[in-house]
Amino acid sequence: MNLILMGLPGAGKGTQAEKIIEKYQIPHISTGDMFRSAIKEGTELGKQAKSFMDQGTLVPDEVTIGIVRERLGKSDCDKGFLLDGFPRTLAQAEALEKLLTELNAPIEYVLHVDVPRDKLLGRLTGRRICPECGATYHVIYNPPKVAETCDNDGATLIQREDDRPETVAKRIEVNVEQTQPLLDFYQDKGYLVTIDGDQDIDDVFEEIDQKLQTL
Ligand code: ADP
Ligand code: ADP
Repeated sequence: MNLILMGLPGAGKGTQAEKIIEKYQIPHISTGDMFRSAIKEGTELGKQAKSFMDQGTLVPDEVTIGIVRERLGKSDCDKGFLLDGFPRTLAQAEALEKLLTELNAPIEYVLHVDVPRDKLLGRLTGRRICPECGATYHVIYNPPKVAETCDNDGATLIQREDDRPETVAKRIEVNVEQTQPLLDFYQDKGYLVTIDGDQDIDDVFEEIDQKLQTL
């Protein structure tokens, strides 16, 4: 099962990805997560990505395409994969098509999690993540069982640097401009499925799951 999750920042891609990979047992490939762990580990990639991420702008295409190429070449992608946060530009989408042709692993669905723009700010500023396992919570919509504490491992939750209100607005704006051409690209190819992301987390998953059952 070869899938792409698309949607604006805060649409719920990471949240749905956790559920999809649990049920369908395919690796979750999130370029944002890969950059965040590279920064945490202080690697060369992390140094390259950090300044862009802190400003809420995109990491250059050649860097991003390079890490995805390397990741998709690993053997755990043989039974499929879930791409989250990639592609974000047309150049990335075209590079991905080429790469997947080489790997003989065509895309089956592009799941577009659609949420009205005015809902995104509140979702992002209320987002908290676990610095250990990467699990995502929300102070109101998806709180942990014990305040500020990860349900999985008890770590103290943190707010992402780029979820501060100043950066959030910029990120949404950058993404709105970039996303439409990509949606058109995948619509033309017949892969695009739009999911109503403006419902409870479990209902969004239910809608995604129903689509995936028809594959
Ligand atoms: P993305 O990966 O698309 O940026 P996330 O999955 O991290 O989005 O979700 C952004 C924030 O919104 C998180 O705090 C998450 O808990 C919350 N969230 C996700 N889906 C929903 C939903 N359907 N309703 C309300 N809040 C949600
Ligand atoms: P969100 O949860 O807001 O959708 P991500 O975690 O996917 O954000 O990405 C965080 C940041 O990582 C982005 O603002 C950008 O700087 C960088 N990034 C992630 N994916 C890509 C990509 N495909 N191309 C360029 N930059 C990316």
